[in-house]
Amino acid sequence: MNKNVQAIYEELSLTAGLTFIPKQGIAYGKFDSFNVIINGNNGTSPFTPLISFFASKEGEGVTAEECRNIRNGVDGIGDCKPNAEGIEITVCMCSGKDKFIGYCMDSLKTGAAFLKANGYKNACPGCNNDIDAFPRKIGGAYMMVCDECYKSAVERSKQLKLVDKKERSFLGVLGALIGSVIGAACIILLGHFGYVTAISGLVMAFATLLCYRLFSGKLTIRGGIISLIIMIIMTFAAHYVNYAFLYMAPKSLAEYTVWDAAMEMPTRYFDPGFREFRRRFFGYLWLLYLYVFVGCVPFIVSLFRKKRAENQIATLGKAEEE
Ligand SMILES: [Zn+2]
Repeated sequence: MNKNVQAIYEELSLTAGLTFIPKQGIAYGKFDSFNVIINGNNGTSPFTPLISFFASKEGEGVTAEECRNIRNGVDGIGDCKPNAEGIEITVCMCSGKDKFIGYCMDSLKTGAAFLKANGYKNACPGCNNDIDAFPRKIGGAYMMVCDECYKSAVERSKQLKLVDKKERSFLGVLGALIGSVIGAACIILLGHFGYVTAISGLVMAFATLLCYRLFSGKLTIRGGIISLIIMIIMTFAAHYVNYAFLYMAPKSLAEYTVWDAAMEMPTRYFDPGFREFRRRFFGYLWLLYLYVFVGCVPFIVSLFRKKRAENQIATLGKAEEE
């Protein structure tokens, strides 16, 4: 906001009985018993500010239909929308200082009269009480929030920061590799005794993801994807070793090792005599992958739950109304 615009906002604030904060370019205060904010740093021009009213009616919000009717016959109102905290009016574009202040006053008076006529009361978005409030930036937007609600929002975001450890990706990858080796050992050992898939697939998923989280400090979506790639490769490798043993078994030659079997298997891929062997190899491989995926599900769920918790703190007020 430049000096000329600031001077106009000073005059507007004086006319409306509000307090102007030049640094943020917002005016705030009580207008006709409602907590309001005029945000001049909204969008393209300071002359189309956003006027927010903080109000509620027994927990009910304003409908979009009711809002549309406010505009009828009022030149100064460009748009009016309901939101979770009350209503917001975009002032119509115009030229000239006096006309601009007139438009803003029209919007303020019309908005307050509408809310009053429809039984709405001034309300803090956090506790819904008709209480003194101050402009606070919560979840990226300025809101008129009471001291008590602001304190608890700060408290909650502090708690989140404490929980929000930094992810150490390199150590995480190391952990995921160690975990996947445990999973691979499980696939090979159980495979040796003829047990296939379910348990070893679950162990692969749990060991890899848990070790990633243990080593990195936290599991993020990025860490989950890295772990998943490691799981896919290690599961294939372990399953391949199992089948190399099966491939070797009928040969019973002293000098023929698992290594030789592993090297020879791909060369027999199109061999008609090995169609059944190939079918079983891939059949059980897909089943193994399916169980690995099932093992990942609890981690995916917890990732999304954490994301939702973060969003609730960013939009104070909505969480309590739900
Ligand atoms: Zn409150």
